[in-house]
Amino acid sequence: MHELPITQRLLEMVLEVARKHGNQRVRVVHLVIGEMTGYVDEAVQFYFDILSRGTLAEGARLRIHREPGQARCLSCGHTFPVAPPLPLGCPQCKSPRLEITGGDACRLEAVELDDTP
Ligand SMILES: [Zn+2]
Repeated sequence: MHELPITQRLLEMVLEVARKHGNQRVRVVHLVIGEMTGYVDEAVQFYFDILSRGTLAEGARLRIHREPGQARCLSCGHTFPVAPPLPLGCPQCKSPRLEITGGDACRLEAVELDDTP
């Protein structure tokens, strides 16, 4: 249920776009969700449906694109793909000093508005 605050923020951004375009209704919302966030697509859609009731985004469909996780070793600089749970060490030098460099965020990519009257 940690999808709730992020969905709330995304909805605010979506509504901001709709308002800037003359209060058009929102048809499709394109999101990018990183694999390392742990967010579940269905949960984001679930909260979006509830939160968007009575707004310009009510009934909008979410198109969710998953972004693969990536990590970098702080010891040898090796960059490699990861998926949760994070590995205990670098596959190249076994150092545990890893930094997540990709797939740890969730962002709004595009909003499709209904411009038919
Ligand atoms: Zn390494």
